[in-house]
Amino acid sequence: MNMNNFLQSGFKFTGEENLLQFKFKMLNSILIIVAFFSLLFALLSDLGMNDIGPIHTKVNYMYSLLTLMLIFFLRLSKQNDTAASHALLVISLITFTSALIFVPQDEFRIIWFYLLIFVAYMINGKISGLLYTLSSIAIILIANFTIDLHLSDVAIHSAILGLIIGSFLSFIYTNKIINYETSLKQQNSSLSVLASTDYLTGIMNRRMFNQISEHYFKTAQQDHLSLTLLLLDLDHFKKVNDTYGHQTGDQLLICFVQTVKNLLRKSDIFSRIGGEEFAILLSQIDKKDAYTLAEKIRKAVENVTVHYEGHNVSVRTSIGIAQNNATDTSFSDMFSRSDMALYKAKKEGRNRTCCAAFSENDIDCPQTSEQAEILNFSI
Ligand code: GH3
Ligand code: MG
Ligand code: MG
Repeated sequence: MNMNNFLQSGFKFTGEENLLQFKFKMLNSILIIVAFFSLLFALLSDLGMNDIGPIHTKVNYMYSLLTLMLIFFLRLSKQNDTAASHALLVISLITFTSALIFVPQDEFRIIWFYLLIFVAYMINGKISGLLYTLSSIAIILIANFTIDLHLSDVAIHSAILGLIIGSFLSFIYTNKIINYETSLKQQNSSLSVLASTDYLTGIMNRRMFNQISEHYFKTAQQDHLSLTLLLLDLDHFKKVNDTYGHQTGDQLLICFVQTVKNLLRKSDIFSRIGGEEFAILLSQIDKKDAYTLAEKIRKAVENVTVHYEGHNVSVRTSIGIAQNNATDTSFSDMFSRSDMALYKAKKEGRNRTCCAAFSENDIDCPQTSEQAEILNFSI
């Protein structure tokens, strides 16, 4: 296992979990450093090379053991990071208080509180940072008041002032990081919306449709469920553009999308897959209902009108339908059957719905949903 994997406790993190991944790595790094150095301090003391007194030596062994346990605790679940970081801060505060009280010969022991405050801000945020600043100051003052810390008043004042300044700087830094992370997240989500949305109509673009459709297809095949694809292509749209202008064409595309959207369920996938070509993906719907819906859409589109210099400009659509079948190996198999059905609808005179059966040569353009039901075009 490489170091990177170890520091993130063996978990995989998605792009959305960037901050959590950072926290895992940071927390594991701090825990390893603490476990190692507190053990070293205790061993050196037992070997007579760095006398920190018998009580604080034991506290250091304990500190090392507990941080080691926290490393294992972090490996159990992704959700353990908050509890682990709180536990680390609490045991650190206890250990540093022990140094303050039981190692009077160390004039520099107050520096551990600076580290504690910085780590509290880094791994647990602003509230925690503020809380540990106040706790540290309170502990130093109470300890100095109740027992002799062997520190001059000037030293105590400097230490507390230093803690406040350190805390203030860490607060500003943490605030900046949080704001930066929030704006980065917002930018990412608006970028992913932009990358998956059609700029004119606001529905899903082809790029996203390709991703989603393959996923829907695999799930439907695995679970032996029906999946139906409707391909729609506006009739003689070039002529609309040539006669009434591109802007009128754009307006028609927007109204067309709104009309179709109103007839679909929330769970239906509706995408603009080309200039005036659209796809609708329907899960678990039988062929009769698919045909009925397609006809409803086709008739509703007949009523879509846009005004241009006193003219009512309208549009028609041809629709090709295909369902998945057991022999399909990829979504493109049912897509090409649907495309062939659409081609037939165009050839038969446009403004109609045609359904593909098992093969691309087996296409019908029924007049009623009852006729559609007899067609053998399901899974
Ligand atoms: P058919 O009935 O055979 O489909 O004829 P058609 O004219 O619709 O077919 P064709 O594919 O030849 O033309 C599609 C036209 O759609 C050409 C293009 O000008 C127009 N188009 C494509 N994208 C847009 C768009 O974003 N806005 C507008 N206004 N027109 C578009
Ligand atoms: Mg076309
Ligand atoms: Mg067309």
